[in-house]
Amino acid sequence: MSTRVQILVRGVVQGVGFRPYIFSLARRRDLRGHVFNNASGVLIDVEGETNAVEQFIQEIKFNPPPLSQIESVERRDILALANHSEFRIGESESAGRKSVPITADVGVCADCLRELFDPRDRRFRYPFINCVSCGPRFTIIEDVPYDRAKTTMREFTMCAACRAEYENPDDRRFHAEPTACATCGPRLYLTDESGRELENGDNAIGHAQGLLLSGKILAIKGVGGFHLACDATNAGAVRRLRQSKYREDKPFALMADSIEMVEGHCSVSAFERDLLLSTRRPIALLARKPDSAVSNLPLAVAPGLNSLGFMLPYAPLHYLLLDGLNRPLVMTSGNVSDEPICYEDRDALERLDKIADFFLLHDRRIHVRVDDSVVRARENREIILRRSRGYAPRALKISFKFARVILACGAELKNTFCLTRGDHAFISHHIGDLENLETFRSFEQGVEHFKRLFNLNPEVVVHDLHPAYISTQYAMTLAGASVKVGVQHHHAHIASCMADNGIEGEVIGVAMDGLGYGTDGRLWGGEFFVAGLARADRVTHLEYTPMPGGTKAIREPWRMGAIHLRRALGDEIFDRNLDFVKRLDRRAWATLSRMAERGVNSPETSSMGRLFDAVASLIGVHDVACYEGQAAIELEMVADESQDDSYEFDYSGVIIKPSPVICDIVTDLVRRVPAPVIAAKFHNAVAGLILEVARRIRAERGLDRVALSGGVFQNLLLLNRTIRLLEAADFEVFTHSRVPTNDGGISLGQAVVADALIKSGEGRS
Ligand code: ZN
Ligand code: ZN
Ligand code: FE
Repeated sequence: MSTRVQILVRGVVQGVGFRPYIFSLARRRDLRGHVFNNASGVLIDVEGETNAVEQFIQEIKFNPPPLSQIESVERRDILALANHSEFRIGESESAGRKSVPITADVGVCADCLRELFDPRDRRFRYPFINCVSCGPRFTIIEDVPYDRAKTTMREFTMCAACRAEYENPDDRRFHAEPTACATCGPRLYLTDESGRELENGDNAIGHAQGLLLSGKILAIKGVGGFHLACDATNAGAVRRLRQSKYREDKPFALMADSIEMVEGHCSVSAFERDLLLSTRRPIALLARKPDSAVSNLPLAVAPGLNSLGFMLPYAPLHYLLLDGLNRPLVMTSGNVSDEPICYEDRDALERLDKIADFFLLHDRRIHVRVDDSVVRARENREIILRRSRGYAPRALKISFKFARVILACGAELKNTFCLTRGDHAFISHHIGDLENLETFRSFEQGVEHFKRLFNLNPEVVVHDLHPAYISTQYAMTLAGASVKVGVQHHHAHIASCMADNGIEGEVIGVAMDGLGYGTDGRLWGGEFFVAGLARADRVTHLEYTPMPGGTKAIREPWRMGAIHLRRALGDEIFDRNLDFVKRLDRRAWATLSRMAERGVNSPETSSMGRLFDAVASLIGVHDVACYEGQAAIELEMVADESQDDSYEFDYSGVIIKPSPVICDIVTDLVRRVPAPVIAAKFHNAVAGLILEVARRIRAERGLDRVALSGGVFQNLLLLNRTIRLLEAADFEVFTHSRVPTNDGGISLGQAVVADALIKSGEGRS
């Protein structure tokens, strides 16, 4: 008996070899019909022997191509047979609603890697080899549906050999949209800093390797933008790169040719190994091997840190570049200081010419700038610190359906934005710190690109409450969307954590971060809430402390150290025998403390991040930070994990006073207690405080679920201690894993809060 069915497969099904897969599946079962991409997914019209059709459907459901993510398989039985004579792959349909998930960029697959180093293969050493299972995707796609004509690869006409593969259903490059070879595809070339071509093709790679080995700095065009590269074992080159990039202390990302090479420098768990080897190819932060004799890396790659950020090659070009070098490369983002990374050749030649000695370029255009992603493992869970290449624009599935199409504009630092439809949140790649025009342009272009790719027209726009945020101002000036919703920063953090975990209802929300605008106009950051998606009631918070000099205090933790010290001890601070006080510039401090007293340029903050800064400075870890959060990160590194002693906050009243902690730290400092012990006791005090407050809220409100969010929880020592204490007291603890706990997760939180407000009818403003 014959049957005919139409099958619509939704999910991540385009650009992952779905049509060729369906084709071979149908042919094997002697089925006839066709398959094509349409705007909703992949549509299959198939007929043949009834049993074979049923098996065919089961196979699609349970054994799909590796890169696909099926969300639904809808079938419709059709009575009339079409009497197709064969099975074929149809052209894509461009009409209709565009809602096809676009896949992220995929690291080079094992098959392509084998061909890359196979002298008999026609793509031997071709730096742009790819196939249906690997290669660039999001970074080259200009529009949907995903077809070569809608990518930057349309500029290259396939040669006869490539076309034959592309059209051959038995070939693994059947409908591989970015396919190319040395004859027809993108070409690689090496230039000097003025853009003059020196070598091309394989010669360019050989020459580039020689330059790297001789200590030169190269700007290398990759998948989502430029890297600045140098020999990671060459201390002089690393130092020069650091100086010319105006990046004094921030750790550099490294690229190794293999897991074994990474293991030469870091201890790598099985889970971390999987992260490194995943097709997403993130930068993974790994514990540096304590025996530094094992590692020949200069300290300058990651000053002051006992971890290193490693990634494995993801573009074929990277494999060729590392081949035979026998050492890791620094592969840091191709930008100057805090600007966004370069992704266009001309721009790179202009902006990076003071840094790079040579440029390794190619003529495949990058349509969207996408940074490397950064992850860390906590036990066997992935913690995403920067969600970008390899992850974005994959949509996150949420546990409920959004009522409207929402655009959430995110925060200021580590910005991402988020668009919604149905039960999906489309969270953007990492945009960066919205502090300059170039980043803002990236943000704007990103929003337009996502709207087009996913065919989303926002009905609601959500923004932070901070009036000075560029993302807030963007939302305010946006015409068209009728509803605008402001969401408090820390409420967004907690809601983001809830959505990350798929929970609803009320929780104890603990938001600890750098700074976020509060509903009272002050800068919050050490907050406890009873929170749901629609509202957050602030239960308690760290006592307000002035930030002498405003945002300057972020880069100069000593200012917070001094103000906390004075709060705790008054003018007595000069009587104590403290190194911190000896280092203090008394004249500068006299001015600042007068400013703080009068409230001049000294906004008040309840930030836990700033308290970490204060402690780091008091114990001599860092008086001046080179990047936001540096003092807090290094405080974690310093802490002696075996230490279980703790200080104690004063939470006898309505708010939390840190002064007893500061006083005890001073006592310890005077007694010459080592910094690692003090740092550990401080971490334990914060974890203990969270437990104490959670207990009180549980006693009053009967809540026993705790959501932890905010940048401070990037500190794994604090996170681990807090979770351990809370779980031992029978709390259920929720933390982030799909979006960052830092401000990169804010856009998701904004979206779910706005949705909850709309559903409860309070969203109009
Ligand atoms: Zn491949
Ligand atoms: Zn070709
Ligand atoms: Fe934050």
